[in-house]
Amino acid sequence: MVLAQAATALRQLLGEVEAALERLLRGEYGRCEVCEGEISPARLEAVPWAARCIGCAEVRRR
Ligand SMILES: [Zn+2]
Repeated sequence: MVLAQAATALRQLLGEVEAALERLLRGEYGRCEVCEGEISPARLEAVPWAARCIGCAEVRRR
């Protein structure tokens, strides 16, 4: 069911975007939630709602 998959993916994305917005309002935007390091500006430009730096995001994917 393509539509059900799309709905799931969109809800997850919405949650990530809202979390990023909350971090921004708290002044914590751009900080990795795992290692607390800075997320690179290039990554934030590509994925503005990224919660993890590229290193931590890749670990999670494996
Ligand atoms: Zn990290």
